[in-house]
Amino acid sequence: MAQDFTLHTHTIGFDGKNTPEHMIAAARNAGFKTIGISNHFIVHPEIRRTKMYGAAVAGGYSTMYNTSFDEALAKFQPHYDELARLQDENPDIRILRGMEVDRFPTDAWADGFARACEILKPDYLIGAAHFVEYGGTVCNVHDMAAVDAKIRDEMLNIYWKNIQELVKSGMFNWIAHLDLPKKKNLGEHRKWDAIKRETIKIIAKSGVPVEINTSGYKIGTLQPYPGTNIMKMIAEYNVPVLISDDAHDVDRIGRDFQLAFVQARNNGIKNFVSLQKLLDFRKKTL
Ligand SMILES: [Zn+2]
Ligand SMILES: [Zn+2]
Repeated sequence: MAQDFTLHTHTIGFDGKNTPEHMIAAARNAGFKTIGISNHFIVHPEIRRTKMYGAAVAGGYSTMYNTSFDEALAKFQPHYDELARLQDENPDIRILRGMEVDRFPTDAWADGFARACEILKPDYLIGAAHFVEYGGTVCNVHDMAAVDAKIRDEMLNIYWKNIQELVKSGMFNWIAHLDLPKKKNLGEHRKWDAIKRETIKIIAKSGVPVEINTSGYKIGTLQPYPGTNIMKMIAEYNVPVLISDDAHDVDRIGRDFQLAFVQARNNGIKNFVSLQKLLDFRKKTL
């Protein structure tokens, strides 16, 4: 098996389709020794005034968006309590409590998030940039796809700067899906190679691992996030990597891990991080 842990998963109550109990059973059946549940931790005071919020309401996953830390805590506390209970009931598999975090660059966010971590005591934090703040609102990759080229380029530039700030914050155990805009076929032109390389250098300097996220294979590019051009840079700077499925349902647990592992190796990646090193990374930087 390419990796005996899977730590990037989502469950019902956020934007996943299945319960933690079912995800844990699926991980056991797939042969994993450890599963981490990492639902979205998203707090932004204006999030309900965005275009994407309307789409989330229509899609039935708007509960993952919060306008205050108290609101997020009210969802995560019972969720984490359930995971603790499930660990007691399932001693044969290790169950970790994570979160996939969107960081926003304000003091209010930093203070609120520090308080949330003190209360929830997550086992690990995944740093992610699903959003860019542009023109007084918060946009996602679908919004980026809908604007004209000049604005889109400005947004993509902000996207990569956000990734760099995530890395520099030293708050995260690893960084998720580096080239997420690829979801809408954005940011793939060679002109973006320079900022990608600059970002990989910053990542290498910080020592933070990055994931090879197999949900990228869903979009028909035959590439995970990140794609092979960034994989080659990761290999060049010897950045540590792990494989993630980003499973939003039981069928995707461990999906394409072997494929991702082989593709990573074929692009020169040798530095696969151990579970212990991954979990210790944030402690080292705090
Ligand atoms: Zn994500
Ligand atoms: Zn995710």
